[in-house]
Amino acid sequence: MPESESYDYALIGGGIMSATLGVLLKLTNPHVRLVMFERLSEVAAESSNPWNNAGTGHAALCELNYMPDSKDGSLPDPSKAIAINEQFQVSRQFWASLVELGILSTPSSFIRTVPHMTFVQGAKDIDYLKRRHLALENQPLFSGMKFSTDLDEISGWAPLITQQRKKQDIAATFIDQGTDVDYGEMTKQMITWLKGQGMKLEMDTEVKSVYQFESGKWQVWLGASQNRLIHADRVFVGAGGYALKLLQRSGIPEINGYGTFPVSGHFLRTDNPEVVAQHHAKVYSQAQVGAPPMSVPHLDTRIVDGKPSLLFGPFAGLNPKFLKSGSILDLPLSIRPANLLPYLSVAFRNLGLVSYLLKEVTKSRSEKFASLQEFVPDADANDWSYYEAGQRAQVIKPVGRGGVLQFGTEVITSADGSISGLLGASPGASVSVSVMLEVLEKMQPKQFQESKAALAKLIPSFEKKLNDNPALAKKTLKATAKALGLKA
Ligand SMILES: Cc1cc2nc3c(=O)[nH]c(=O)nc-3n(C[C@H](O)[C@H](O)[C@H](O)COP(=O)(O)OP(=O)(O)OC[C@H]3O[C@@H](n4cnc5c(N)ncnc54)[C@H](O)[C@@H]3O)c2cc1C
Repeated sequence: MPESESYDYALIGGGIMSATLGVLLKLTNPHVRLVMFERLSEVAAESSNPWNNAGTGHAALCELNYMPDSKDGSLPDPSKAIAINEQFQVSRQFWASLVELGILSTPSSFIRTVPHMTFVQGAKDIDYLKRRHLALENQPLFSGMKFSTDLDEISGWAPLITQQRKKQDIAATFIDQGTDVDYGEMTKQMITWLKGQGMKLEMDTEVKSVYQFESGKWQVWLGASQNRLIHADRVFVGAGGYALKLLQRSGIPEINGYGTFPVSGHFLRTDNPEVVAQHHAKVYSQAQVGAPPMSVPHLDTRIVDGKPSLLFGPFAGLNPKFLKSGSILDLPLSIRPANLLPYLSVAFRNLGLVSYLLKEVTKSRSEKFASLQEFVPDADANDWSYYEAGQRAQVIKPVGRGGVLQFGTEVITSADGSISGLLGASPGASVSVSVMLEVLEKMQPKQFQESKAALAKLIPSFEKKLNDNPALAKKTLKATAKALGLKA
């Protein structure tokens, strides 16, 4: 009989979410015993890898889907955009504290200032963007956002998108507090620190299932070939697209009825220094009819390992895998009696989305390149290559006897708080700190209450709303910009 190994927390998955939770746990309780399991031979190799995501520091500075237009032509409601920005400010403050504590190294290794822009064409979208700007320009967290319909001014912000355009109907907003973030590098640095603090990291180790004993403790099962007894008081399932599978196997009723809808992502990329030098921004535009919010086309400056590139995309597609390195059986094997109706009702209610995805999959390379040329009229096909990014597993949430497709994230926690996991992928890594604080509170409410003073040191605006307090918002933006080497 093997000796049992015992931990306070088992973290399943070596991505940004598990890493962030691990750091929060260690900083609020240095004695906590942690183990992390990663099925691949590297951490941050799935969605958190810099080439598998777009690296946008999502703060709703440029993404129209966080602030849809009003139905009656009035100013669009900014509340969701403000809420996303508040969450990103929590992340920025936490990362700034980690730099100060030496847990994260030189900020430029994982975060850089890259202005965020929204670019639209045609009278209808210009009017919407103008009203969006009016609704945001006086919000403290969006201060400094500019709006223009002037070709020369827009050209000064992003020359590649104005080439060959004459007096066309275009408009853009520009804000220079936007960021490009390498979440993979950040994950690696956090995990290196956690290892130094005694966390056991098990690579090439796939957790097959978890079982709860009557005592409430969990057994982490690595498969029949591994004769080990691994026990943990609490389990966090940070397994990205595989979270659904593990939560289903845990047997907790809270996961019943949930499903995930996988959407693959591809980008066009150029490393040609002459082209890259002409663009320094993340430019988001309007989604096509039927397109999911995460398929809004954008042209991005991307900086990985200190080297800038440009990305354009994402081109979404249908693919039944829940992870990039997953299996085509992932989707069929996730179907249970409890989620069959939610799956069917989502497919039925989202025929527009399904037909959009089918169209995207069948698009030829030249048709995809034509979408880039709508942004960059002068783009040369020789400069750009097409590559596969990460796989998103969007949440299908049970509602009544059916289900709805959600584009956010959903934390699923058992009633006793001993197991929690994360479904969904948007706004993603940008809001990892807020989401992991939610996990911490649900898993250990008492310890969370006792940790509030420590958390407020790490995140000065903890439990405050910056946008409601202009002086605090200004001070916080300035302080985190200074600590992270960003433009204030
Ligand atoms: C195309 C695309 C673009 C995106 N763009 C952005 C963006 O611009 N900004 C942003 O903030 N977010 C973006 N996201 C979302 C963001 O990448 C994710 O929200 C985030 O990386 C999720 O982190 P995670 O730790 O939950 O998952 P992951 O990084 O996927 O990590 C999960 C880990 O768990 C491991 N694992 C799975 N099952 C097991 C198991 N059974 N045992 C052991 N290990 C296991 C996996 O191998 C993986 O390493 C994007 C995502 C995609 C796909």
